[in-house]
Amino acid sequence: MFIVMITPECAPVAKVGGLGDVVFGLCHELELRGNDVEIILPKYDCMRYDQIYGLRQVYDDLWVPFYDRWVHCSVFFGFVHGRKCFFIDAHSERNFFNRGAYYGQHDDPERFTFFCRAALEFMLKANKHPDIIHCHDWQTGIVPVLLFDIYKNYGMTHPRVCYTLHNLKHQGVTGDFILRATGLNRPDYYLQPDRLQDNFNRAAANLMKAGIVYSNFVTTVSPSYAGEIRHTDLSYGLGHTLHVHGGKFGGILNGIDYDVWNPEIDGHIARRYGINTLQDKFSNKEALRHRLLLQHAYKPIVSYVGRLDHQKGVELIRDALFYSLANGCQFVLLGSSDERGINHYFWQLKQRLNDNPDCHLEIGFDEDLSHLIYAGSDMIVLPSLFEPCGLTQMIALKYGTLPVVRATGGLKDTVFDADYSDRPYHERNGYVFNDFNFQGLESAMRRAIGMWYSYPQYFRELMVNGMRYDYSWNHPGGHYLNVYEYIRDK
Ligand code: ADP
Repeated sequence: MFIVMITPECAPVAKVGGLGDVVFGLCHELELRGNDVEIILPKYDCMRYDQIYGLRQVYDDLWVPFYDRWVHCSVFFGFVHGRKCFFIDAHSERNFFNRGAYYGQHDDPERFTFFCRAALEFMLKANKHPDIIHCHDWQTGIVPVLLFDIYKNYGMTHPRVCYTLHNLKHQGVTGDFILRATGLNRPDYYLQPDRLQDNFNRAAANLMKAGIVYSNFVTTVSPSYAGEIRHTDLSYGLGHTLHVHGGKFGGILNGIDYDVWNPEIDGHIARRYGINTLQDKFSNKEALRHRLLLQHAYKPIVSYVGRLDHQKGVELIRDALFYSLANGCQFVLLGSSDERGINHYFWQLKQRLNDNPDCHLEIGFDEDLSHLIYAGSDMIVLPSLFEPCGLTQMIALKYGTLPVVRATGGLKDTVFDADYSDRPYHERNGYVFNDFNFQGLESAMRRAIGMWYSYPQYFRELMVNGMRYDYSWNHPGGHYLNVYEYIRDK
């Protein structure tokens, strides 16, 4: 099958969070199964160009309509760890992708709808007729609308669209000017409840809703999250739309790429290890302490790796830090936030704890360090308010690091409590709590820390149970192919 991914992120070249990992990992798996996969991304100035092999310009004469003008674009091609990637470079005075950041700009909806239009224009001009176009999140939600209402008339009748929702908190709600920008026009037609009209604001267009309504199939990143966004307010207003389109909607648990996240072959860690050499994990703990200037002591290391966002439970992450320090643990944090207030708070906390030999806060994004933290920690906390899938806990499990998580979304689907799960003992792999408050968090952390100190043998069994799980792309890859086959035949 010929599959084209249109996406705002692809790890490691342009990664903000899990979406980037998912695109890379899924494409890798699809290729291993014999499919032809191409990825189309914006050419951001802040990408990791050191991760692209053989970058070269392959198309210089792409003119993309936007409002009532044509914007000149070039297209580059390069391999990202073997994946075939095209990068759209827009020569517009608005400098869409040269802003030093991926997201967080006032005109994000225009930047990404322009990207969608450019990606389709490129496919048309380059004569690409994939079986499947796979789009991701609000940034590419307009693709199926453009495909079926504009590009189909130019002969692109073959592709079917699969659309994956990674996080419903961000939907790309914008003004009707976006219809003029993309050439769709006709606000009276598109701003209807059964099309692009936002479910809260009747004057606004919702790009994620566009993707849901117009795609041939919609997936989200875990079965539990699929249920939550249909039936609870975690849908942020799109529950009804998902309900109406329930016949073409389902949850597929993400995988992780075991070529990247595997302690047996990981080049970023101090010493490689596996289930049979678990004692070597300890060298990584020592290396982590050495790197972050923590004291060498008989204590577990509790860590947090991830965005510092309200979704991730920032208040509870702070509570976990102080609870760890007060209960005989060391604590390591690696994270950053788009929100100035949150970043500022954690910078202050870092200064306050600067001299504490049991604690290190690293504010920023550091993929290499994250590998050592996964390998060197004993536990990782994920007290999320909601979590569509969450890759962190799956990576941690592979590294024998026990996840302490709140029971929501994908965390619920992947972590099974040591004491209370209804799964057999050999499938239990972490600690889970329900209530989104300090008492909830503490109830799980107390049990996990107590187990580390009092029953190390049982703690080790839980680590091994986690390492045995297969959270690779093997199963999800098969599920996505089933979806592609299903819509291709329609
Ligand atoms: P989300 O997509 O909501 O950010 P996920 O758990 O799905 O969360 O994916 C997070 C991914 O991003 C993981 O691979 C994690 O290791 C990585 N990550 C998040 N923050 C950082 C950071 N500050 N430095 C390095 N890696 C990070």
